[in-house]
Order: sequence, then structure tokens, then C-alpha cells
Amino acid sequence: TQRVVIIGAGIVGTNLADELVARGWNNITVVEQGPLNMPGGSTSHAPGLVFQTGPSKTMTHLARYTIQKLLSIEKDGQNCFNQVGGLEIATTPARLEELKRRHGYATSWGIESRLISPDECVKLYPHLDRDLVLGGFHIPSDGLALAARATQLLIERTSNAGVRYIAETPVTNIERTDNHITGVTTPSGYIPADIVISCAGFWGVELGAMVGVSIPLLPLAHQYAKTTKVPELANREINKQTNGKNAILPILRHQDQDLYYREHGEQYGIGYYGHRPMPVVAASLGLTPKHVDDKNMPSRLEFTKEDFDPAWKESQKLLPALRNTEIEDGFNGVFSFTPDGGPIVGQAPNLEGFWVAEAVWVTHSAGVARAVAEVLTTGRSQIDISECELSRFEEVQLSRAYINETSAQNFVEIYDILHPSQPKESPRNLRTSPFYPRQKDLGAFFLELAGWERPFWYEANSHLLESLPKEWKPIERDVWSAQFHSPIVAVEAWKTRNAVAMYDMTSFHRFEVSGPGAAHLLQRLSTADINTKPGTISYALLLNEHAGIQSDIFISRLGKDLFQVGANTATDLVYLTREARHQKQWVQVRDVTGSTCCVGLWGPRSRDVISTISTDDFSNEAFPYFTVKSVTINGIPAKALRKSYVGELGWEIQTSAEYGAQLWDSIWNAGKTHGLIAAGRGAFNALRLEKGYRIYGADMTSEHNPYEAGVSNAVRMSKMDNYVGKIALEKLSKHPNRRLRCLTVNDGRSMVLGKEPVFYRGKAVGYVTSAAFGYTVGKPVAYAWLPSNVSCGNTVEIEYFGRRIRATVSAEPLYDPDSKALLG
Ligand code: FAD
Repeated sequence: TQRVVIIGAGIVGTNLADELVARGWNNITVVEQGPLNMPGGSTSHAPGLVFQTGPSKTMTHLARYTIQKLLSIEKDGQNCFNQVGGLEIATTPARLEELKRRHGYATSWGIESRLISPDECVKLYPHLDRDLVLGGFHIPSDGLALAARATQLLIERTSNAGVRYIAETPVTNIERTDNHITGVTTPSGYIPADIVISCAGFWGVELGAMVGVSIPLLPLAHQYAKTTKVPELANREINKQTNGKNAILPILRHQDQDLYYREHGEQYGIGYYGHRPMPVVAASLGLTPKHVDDKNMPSRLEFTKEDFDPAWKESQKLLPALRNTEIEDGFNGVFSFTPDGGPIVGQAPNLEGFWVAEAVWVTHSAGVARAVAEVLTTGRSQIDISECELSRFEEVQLSRAYINETSAQNFVEIYDILHPSQPKESPRNLRTSPFYPRQKDLGAFFLELAGWERPFWYEANSHLLESLPKEWKPIERDVWSAQFHSPIVAVEAWKTRNAVAMYDMTSFHRFEVSGPGAAHLLQRLSTADINTKPGTISYALLLNEHAGIQSDIFISRLGKDLFQVGANTATDLVYLTREARHQKQWVQVRDVTGSTCCVGLWGPRSRDVISTISTDDFSNEAFPYFTVKSVTINGIPAKALRKSYVGELGWEIQTSAEYGAQLWDSIWNAGKTHGLIAAGRGAFNALRLEKGYRIYGADMTSEHNPYEAGVSNAVRMSKMDNYVGKIALEKLSKHPNRRLRCLTVNDGRSMVLGKEPVFYRGKAVGYVTSAAFGYTVGKPVAYAWLPSNVSCGNTVEIEYFGRRIRATVSAEPLYDPDSKALLG
């Protein structure tokens, strides 16, 4: 098998060696700068709390597997996980609501949990001050990872299986040819390798720099302290146990004060996130000493007591037993934070053979390791890890300034109650379309994605609320779903369906694929048959070899050797570029997103508008659905694509950035007499759901196949050429066991937002992916993954903050099933 070098013998590196060994790889070397018995990284002092539940299904499932694995690593009758359960408590009404939402996540992702009363909290956790607690969230399968012990046992197990460990040896350079790794250099020599995987934790930035790869993580110090002995914890049988299983109480989180707790025998351990961010440059910590112990390791910095004072005060309030104790020992421990809080996993975009698995908590360590091992050995992981991909970041997000600011902000917000739409406050305005000044003039409310400012609605449309027909009037929303939302969205939806609206589509990724190998590349990677004549648009999927959906794209054939691809993410660009590089027939993939701009002009009157500013023929005969043409709009060279994300007649009009302002103004002025408005993403999201258009990432991922996700229309089974995923696809049942379904809310007014659990006959059977109020149908609409036996007409219940909302599985699309509007 391939020669693998893993850098770092922390919980991630050792798990990865183990997962690769389990899959039959047998040429693995782990290089660790510290001593093996205590390498001195974050794992060496991690208190090991594993709370599984979060808004991300992926992260929750990575954590669930980590527990499963730690329970299975055993020696002398003792495994590596102490399943004491997890308890999160609320001391504020807002947190009590938040715990309901978290309980919903747990249910959605299949983690058994319970919301419990203050009395039950105290019963589970007698040291709590009953008067402070409003309620709790109990997860029996959470607990304490014995991370250092697991690392040692994994080293032992993998060494026995033939993995070489080279300790006390830093990797000082990573060697490469133009675009491939060749090995690593250490003071004791060169180690050749086909694959180098950096599991260097917060040293990741330095390792990346060795090969010119920006690693978007920021090492930050985080405070952890132990108390003196707590009389209430004395004289318990558990205190005599060895191997670190010295706790019986659940692990405890007090997020309202940025605190968490565990027992260490008779002592309490307290972790604190409430202090100022304390960034660290790993390189400045110097070389790992020959002798590492509990007190002396590079990842452990001096305790700054003054930062901990508020934590100590709050802890003594919550846990009166602590009032008779003091802080015995504390430290500022270093670990990694990232711009979006996720780990950094995957292969470097422009370098073959350099992989990373960094910014990974103990909580997700074995899950991440398994996923990487699966990707390396089979090409895909059973848990979708696209949200962990190193390649998910845009260029602008890889600058040090961006990484440092956003990662530090994630530290600050780690336990905050965050609305799913809540935008970053800074940095903002990194990427704006040429229409931005016009949008500001119209009072656009912007939310940020991947650095882009994207209008969600325009205050300038508020006066139209008065003329809104009764059946289009927006519902009164609950306080949570009303955040980052405006009733104006109803106006914008109404206008799109009944007149015409312009949407800024600039932030959608556009790639130009050109050269003699362009057609072959797209034919080989996508499910569409692009052996079509120039001027045709195809909707296609990018599948993995197992027919899991990696992305959905639009391919516009502009010429024999020239295509434009409308894609989802930076990861799509990396994938296409990498495949292009590997292809014999020359092809170039170029990201033209920022150098171009795009207006979606949609609505029954879009043709009237466009025809007044162009002499090109926009009739159905001359310009049918799913075709693309070069046109001139008011003297501006542009491309018009006859397609629509909102299910109406219309065109996406693209031009290069310098014509952007002129394009906007031309359309705007021409539209006045036709009732044109500018509309934002709020309306867009609602309208696309009514039409049943899926969004990759939210509605479907690599865990789903086209039949399950309801996008088999994108698959040309008659296509003769082979393509990635075709063989697997042919073997799939066209009657899968689960389906992405359309739900409509029965009472016509109860909103949900996504990720809520769905119940059928009282049992949790699925979860919501996307949701919005469907203005055209006059009801909230939600898409959800459900078992196939739950079918059209069935009533289900969606749980939203603990409340059950009845909904009906509905035939889709809800709007314009015959595409009469779309085909104009
Ligand atoms: P590390 O354990 O840091 O391992 C990386 C290894 O790479 C190190 O041993 C290092 O010596 C080696 N290395 C680096 N550079 C080189 C080089 N050039 N050559 C050779 N070797 C190199 N997580 C949880 O899930 N639950 C918790 O309760 C929790 N509490 C925490 C509390 C504190 C105070 C801190 C600081 C962190 C906590 N974490 C917790 C986070 C967790 O500890 C880390 O995310 C995790 O240990 C990272 O594991 P790792 O293997 O990636 O990194």
C-alpha cells in the first residue's frame, strides 16, 4: 500500500493510524516531536468531556462514533470512556428555550436525550443550587474520554500491527515536487512518503506553511482549573479507581456563564470560555522538551488568575459545595479554533498527497480519523464531511487577518445562543457585487456568506405591504423565527410570482471550463450528457464512486470547448481543478465568480422587461427553457441563461464586473413600467422550496443518492459514456428506503427553520432540512428526510422548541407542477 507519514501522535494521529491499519494499510510511520508517553500536545491535558449534540448532524455523528470506539478500546478490563452522561443546565429563560432546540437536534440526529425539570437536575447532580436552575437537558450517552490513555493504547495496538513511531523527532520540512508530496525531513533523516497527513493539532499552521498551504486555524489558550478537595466528594468508592475513571456525576455545562465541569476524584475541574481570546503562535512555543509532564508541556501556558476570577465566582454560586474550596491548580491550555468552528480535514487543494486532520476535538477525534481513513481507502466517508473540508474556504477566508478574527470570535461565541441566520459582525463587506451601491440605496438588509454580502430583502419595498392582497399577507411569526426576517419578504415573493423581480445572483459560483479536454472532463464527472449542441444548459450531479451526491451543478455549453459551470462551493472548484490536472486531454478550470456578475430576472413579466432593452429575440421559440445565448442588453455584452431558481419565466443575465452597474440600471429603468422590484434571498428561499429545488449541503449531501433525494431527473441513465458513480448508480434501487419529502404545515402559520425532528405515529423518524413560509401556497413549507413508508397524505409532527406542529406530506412541487409558469 501507499507509504503514509502521519505527523503528530495526539488523539487524532493515533486514531488515524489505527483506522488505516484496520483497513489494511501497512506502511505507516507516525512522527512525533514529543515523547510518546506524553507528547505534550492538546491531548496530553484534555479533560475529555464529550458532549455529542450540536446543530451539525455530521459533528454529532462523528462524536457518536468516537464514543463507540473509545468504549471498545480496552486493556486490563477497562475501556477508555466513562459514560457518566451529560447535563446542560439553564439559568435563564432564553437558555431554557435553547435547551429545547438542542433536545430537538439530539432527536433529529438519533441521540437519546431528555429535557428535565430543576428537581430532576438536582437529583442527577446534587451539588447544583436548585434555586438557580430553571431546567436541564440530559444526554445519558455523553461522558468523559480518557484521551491520554486511549492514545497510549492506540500506540500500543498500532505498533503491534506494524506502525512505526518515531518519537522526540520534529518534522522540519515537507518535501514535494511541483504538485506532489515526496516525504518529510526530520533532524534524524528523510522519510519518503506518498501521503503525508498532518495531525499536528494547533501546530497545523506551521506544518501547512512548509508546503505553502494556508491552514485556517488559530491556536487559542483556554482556561482550565482544578479545585482543592471538595468535602462533598470525599470518601467515595470511585475515588479509589485508577485509569482516570474517577468520576460518577454527569459532565456539566453551564453555558449561560461559559462554564463546564467534571470531577477528578475528590476535586472539581472547571473549564472556562468567558475570558478574552488569548491567541498563541505555535512556533513561538519552542521545541517540545525531552521531559514532558503534567506541568511542563508546550500546550500548557501559565494560568492567568485574573481572567478566571469571574468563572470562580459563578462556579461557587452554582455549586455551593465549592465555597469551601480554592483553586489548587490552573493553566491556560492551547487548542485550535477555526473561522466557522468546524475542523479542518482533507487534502490540500493544489498539492497531491498532503492531507490534514486538524482543529479536531477529542470529542470528534475517532470519527474524523475514520472518515479520513475511509476517504483515503475507498474515496468516500460514510458520514458526510463536506462541512469539515479544508477546501471549503474561499481565498479571502484564508488570509491570516480573516482567520484570526473569525476564529477568535468563534471562541467568544462558543456557548452563545446563535440564531441560524445570525451574521458575522466583522469582517464584513469583503465581497460585494457591482450592484452593491444600488442595493444599499434600496435599503437592502445584507447577510454574509463566504465573504459575500447578500441582500435578504429591501426596505424600499415596504410601502408595497399595503397593496399586498389578503391571501399574501405575511403571518405573525414567533420571536425566534422573526429574527433576521422581514414581512417585506412576502411582498417580494408576491411580485416575483405576479410581476417581475431582479435578484442578485453574483455570489453563486461560476466556473469557466475550457480547452480540448473540457467536454471530456464534464462528461466524465457529471451525470448529465453534455454531448449537446452549444447553447444548451444541463442540470447535473457530481457523484462519488458510491453514487453519493457531492454537488449539483448547471453546465452551460457555450462552445465546442467552452463551458460554464454554475456550482455550489469552493470545494467544487477544487474537485474540478484537481480532476482537470489529472486528465490527459488539456482542460482549464477558472473561477470567474468575482470577475463577473449576475442578475436573475424572474417573473411573468420578465420577457416584457428584457425585450425593451435588447434587440435579441427572447421569445419561447428563439430562446427556449434551459438554453443560453450571448446577448446585448442596452449595449452591454452579456450572457442570458434561460433558467430560474424560483420557478418563473426569466433569465439569469451575466456580464463581466465592469458592466455591472450599467446592467443593473438598464434593467431597473426598463422594469419601472412593468412593476419590477429588487428582491432578496428571503423570497428566493421561499420560492425555490415551493418549486421543490434542492440546495446542496442543506437538503442533500454525499450520504444521499439521487433517487432518495428526488433528483434522479439530473441523471441521464441512457448516457453511454462512463462517469463517476455510474456503476454504483446502476445497482441502486429506484425505490429507496428513505426520501426527501415536502411537508406543509397544517395550521398554515407555525414556522420551523430546519434541523427539527419529525415524528410519525409518535416516533422520531426524520428531520427537516430546509424550511420557509410558502407565500404562494399560504403555508409554511419544510423539506424533510423521512422513511419511504411515510408518504403523501400522511400526517407527521415537527418538533419546534418542544412544541409539536402538525404537517402533511405533500406532493411536490407545490407550485406549478406542470411548469407552465416556468416555460412561459
Ligand atoms: P494534539 O494532541 O495537540 O496532537 C498534535 C501532536 O502533533 C502533538 O503531540 C505535537 O507534539 C505533534 N506535532 C506538532 N508539530 C509537529 C512536528 N512538526 N513534528 C512532529 N510532531 C509534531 N476537547 C474535547 O473534546 N473535550 C474537552 O473537554 C476538551 N477540553 C479541552 C480543554 C483544554 C484546556 C484544551 C486546551 C483543549 C480541550 N479540548 C477538549 C480540545 C482537545 O484537547 C484537542 O482538540 C485535541 O486534543 C486535539 O488533538 P490532536 O491530536 O489534533 O492534537
